[in-house]
Amino acid sequence: MPDAAITAATQPSQPFSRELAEEPLQVPPQVPQWMDTHCHLQLLDDEAAAVATAAQDGVGLLLCVGIDAKTTEAALVAAHTFPGVWASSGLHPHSASDLAHEWELLSALAADPLVVAIGETGFDFYRDHSPPGVQEEAFRQQIAFAKTQDKTLIIHSRDAWADTFRVLADAGPPERFVFHCFSGGPDEARRAVEMGACLSFAGPLTYPKNETLREAARTAPHDRIVVETDAPFLPPQGFRGKTCFPAYTAKTGSVLADVLGLSRAETAALTTANACRVFRLPELSGVGDGGTV
Ligand SMILES: [Zn+2]
Repeated sequence: MPDAAITAATQPSQPFSRELAEEPLQVPPQVPQWMDTHCHLQLLDDEAAAVATAAQDGVGLLLCVGIDAKTTEAALVAAHTFPGVWASSGLHPHSASDLAHEWELLSALAADPLVVAIGETGFDFYRDHSPPGVQEEAFRQQIAFAKTQDKTLIIHSRDAWADTFRVLADAGPPERFVFHCFSGGPDEARRAVEMGACLSFAGPLTYPKNETLREAARTAPHDRIVVETDAPFLPPQGFRGKTCFPAYTAKTGSVLADVLGLSRAETAALTTANACRVFRLPELSGVGDGGTV
């Protein structure tokens, strides 16, 4: 039964790409199962300790996300230092006003083969650190760039569903994209999935009050679900108010397993296979040799 469930779960309902779906990723048994698809390792005090602790807890794959040129550079250093770590190049909506003078370096850094994604980008109307029009300009630029670079887009959308969907529909979403720290309900989950998105669930999935978010996770096709921590932010239940670490991916993953009615091992295998597909990660056999490609 578990085998049948996982086989069914990993059949893409609407593949991101035929090419990828035709080559199902084999996860070698020696590779830790969980992947933290969105963390800011470079913002933690001790990156090496965070990576080591994560590996001990079965989180051997990490995507270190840039929020501006400086943190993208630091993400790349981490990716070239630690096995199993990849990077993204992006400008967070909070810093969208810096687009003009950050772009040259951000786009140059994106050429590194360990940069597998563009973003995080999108809208944040909760904090409104940059004007909405400026956030939209930066979002559109990164959507276009993800397409030309054939890299996965990481979307940040907070209190901004209507605008996020409007811009994505108008610009045309890239082939592969992820709603990081998905925070919508079942309706937003359905809409995002229809557009071709993958949904990434973070610590808030574990908060007792967030039944609507768990309902959204139940709504999503199994091949569209990944997990993340957004470390050092958004710790799961039991660690709220404290620093979040990539190791906690397993804690959110454990709640996700209960939500999906799968075992922890099945959920880890499923979400890691999804993550490798959506981020087009190099052969996992390369993991452990320094993460270089
Ligand atoms: Zn983030």
